[in-house]
Amino acid sequence: MTKVKLILSITAAAVILVSCSGTPSSPVAALPAQPQKVVDVSPVAATPTQNGTDVSPSVAPQTQPPVKQADPTPKKKTLTPPLSDALSRVTKKTFGLYVSPGNSPVSPEKFKGYHTGIDFETFANEQDIDISVSAVCDGPLILKKWATGYGGVAVQQCNIEGQDVTVVYGHLRSSSILPKIHDQIKAGESFAALGKGFSTETDGERKHLHLGIHKGVSINILGYVQNQSLLDQWLDPKSYF
Ligand SMILES: [Zn+2]
Repeated sequence: MTKVKLILSITAAAVILVSCSGTPSSPVAALPAQPQKVVDVSPVAATPTQNGTDVSPSVAPQTQPPVKQADPTPKKKTLTPPLSDALSRVTKKTFGLYVSPGNSPVSPEKFKGYHTGIDFETFANEQDIDISVSAVCDGPLILKKWATGYGGVAVQQCNIEGQDVTVVYGHLRSSSILPKIHDQIKAGESFAALGKGFSTETDGERKHLHLGIHKGVSINILGYVQNQSLLDQWLDPKSYF
C-alpha cells in the first residue's frame, strides 16, 4: 500500500508540473519567439540603402562605375604637320640621333654627328609625284637657296610657345619654293615640294624632308652637330606635333 500511495503522489505531482509548464504565461514557453525577431534587424539587413542599392562603404566601390582616370594633359599641338601622316614617316633619323657612315639607318651615309632635326620619309609610291611641303608655323621666309647636303633648303622664322626660332626645311626642289624672302607663310600653307630623290635637287639624298628647329633668330642650317652642347641649340620638332 505504501508503494502504491507513493506512486500516486509522484504521478499527481507530475501532472501538476506538466499543467503548470503548459500555461501561456510560462517564461519557458514565451522565450523562443522574442530573440528571433531581433535577429531580423541585424546590422546586415539594416545596412543603409539608397534606392535599393547597397551603399555600405565595403560594397560601394564595386557597384559604382570605376572612377574615370583624369585624362593626361592633352599634348599641345603647337606645330602643323608639314606632310600628311607626318609622324608615321619619322622612321629613320630622329632628333639627336648620332650617325656616322658606319652606323646609320640610311646607306650610304655621308654625314657624321648628332642629327639636329627629324626626317620625314616618303613612301614608295611617292617617288615620282610632287609631294607638297606645308609650313609648320606662321612666319616669314628668311632664306631659300641650294646648299651642300640639302639641295634646296628654306628657312622660316617663327615663334613657338613664346620662343623665337628658325625652322629649316631641307631637301626641297629649289624652284618650287614659292614665297619670296620676307613673305609671310601661314601654318599649314603648302609652300614648296620635295626634291627628286638622288638628284641635285636633294644633293644626292633620298627623297625626304629634313625639319630642324634652331633656337633664336639667327639662321643656322646645320643638319648635324658634333657635340651635345651644340645640340642644345636645337629643339626636337616631334615634341610639338
Ligand atoms: Zn635630316
